[in-house]
Amino acid sequence: MKYKIIDSKDLSFFKSILSENCVLTESEDLNTYSRDYTEDLQFLPSAVLVPSNAEQISSIMKYCHEHTITVTARGAGTGLSGGCLPVEAGVVLALHKLNKIIHIDENNFQAIVEPGVINEVFQEAVQALGLFYPPDPASKGSCTLGGNVAHSSGGPRCVKYGTTRDYVLNLEVVLAIGEIIQTGANVLKNSTGYNLTQLMVGSEGTLGIITKITLKLLSYPPYRTLMLASFASAKNACACVSKILSAGVTPSALEFMDKKGVEISTSKQNINFKFGDEKAYLLIEVDAFEIEDLLPQCEKIYNALDQMEVMNVLMAEDAETKEKFWKIRRSIGELVKQISIYKEEDTVVTRSYLPQLYEGVEYLSKQYGFETVCYGHAGDGNLHINILKNNLSDEFWQNELPKAIRKIFELCKQYGGTISGEHGIGLVQKQYLDVVFSPIHFELMKGIKKAFDPKSILNPKKIFDI
Ligand SMILES: Cc1cc2nc3c(=O)[nH]c(=O)nc-3n(C[C@H](O)[C@H](O)[C@H](O)COP(=O)(O)OP(=O)(O)OC[C@H]3O[C@@H](n4cnc5c(N)ncnc54)[C@H](O)[C@@H]3O)c2cc1C
Repeated sequence: MKYKIIDSKDLSFFKSILSENCVLTESEDLNTYSRDYTEDLQFLPSAVLVPSNAEQISSIMKYCHEHTITVTARGAGTGLSGGCLPVEAGVVLALHKLNKIIHIDENNFQAIVEPGVINEVFQEAVQALGLFYPPDPASKGSCTLGGNVAHSSGGPRCVKYGTTRDYVLNLEVVLAIGEIIQTGANVLKNSTGYNLTQLMVGSEGTLGIITKITLKLLSYPPYRTLMLASFASAKNACACVSKILSAGVTPSALEFMDKKGVEISTSKQNINFKFGDEKAYLLIEVDAFEIEDLLPQCEKIYNALDQMEVMNVLMAEDAETKEKFWKIRRSIGELVKQISIYKEEDTVVTRSYLPQLYEGVEYLSKQYGFETVCYGHAGDGNLHINILKNNLSDEFWQNELPKAIRKIFELCKQYGGTISGEHGIGLVQKQYLDVVFSPIHFELMKGIKKAFDPKSILNPKKIFDI
């Protein structure tokens, strides 16, 4: 596809729709919007547009469609698959000004929000009313709800409560041609034709710009207990995940961390933590509406841990210890980045195959000679594998490592899984998509893309090339 390069006439049009200071072209601004949290990639946009409402976005999309200018939506830029990088330059739509919580409907357990609302801000706003929005990516303090929807993001609580997808009831979307549509209705049941809402969830900004989101809410369970279990073998920690869930209890978080991840997180943050011979940990949380419902859940978990030769179980008795354990877990991803350039693989398998996946990754890391840090949402069968570059040559990193990553993804497929549980395909994983998708699958997806975005101006070169 040949895209138009933005010129002064285009900029004048954008300025007529937005105010002058919402059309950014200074190199410092372009630089800021040229990166996200993915590896060390950089793509400069030609301009950054900062709209405030759907009508402005609609005018921009109509113009860009007519002139074949590419448009890449951006939330907070915390994505880990290069989703918001403007690979074909064009304009970046920075959506942080669409940040209103429009309405929290306590009677119907719903809220309508704009896409630029920060996940944690929303969680706190609903919690103040006794309501609960569970999806909680580790990046919750900075990522936006729009980005969460576009990636169907997950987080620790998803093992009990499901991912973002499970909370999206309806969306307002600006299409590539500039029309504004509602994808569904603000209802809990909907059997009315194709489900465009769920098609849009996880579409990574390739099918439309999300401008309003109706989210389902729950009642907030106020009581929780947190424990940290250590294991002499990572394989046993992984195997214990299924044991716990088969014991008749669904924890509100069931997270895996290998020892290296905990070492990096504690040392970089000066967190006092005593290490022994353990190789891996499970961070396990249970929640409840009544305090007396916590203990029976903990007992079931203890029994399961015992059966898997747990070495030690630390209970977080007070808020400070709870905070400390969560800080260790939530910070691993960001702190690994400080050690080395790395690639993060977001593997997911049928839960009971986690031990086999872990062993397979260990085998491949020895075979190819790379170091890994593994952690993640084990309760969902979702293991993040950080592959560190350290002193590996650029030649190995570019040419040999992709072969090993492909083998890791083949293992995922073999164990009933796929190549991304929550981070999306974006730019960096699309080269591996054929591991799990057949040619007919690609044709169907390309047909959908064409129907929504005939000139392929929305976030081009993401998920697949067209
Ligand atoms: C330290 C760290 C921890 C993380 N932990 C988790 C985790 O636990 N679970 C998890 O799932 N992810 C996690 N992530 C990944 C990331 O935070 C999520 O993918 C998040 O949803 C991205 O949100 P964002 O606002 O930063 O989106 P961006 O990175 O800005 O964009 C992500 C994608 O969404 C599209 N997009 C954004 N807004 C819109 C919109 N309004 N309409 C259409 N498309 C849009 C973009 O084009 C892009 O394709 C983590 C990232 C970091 C850096």
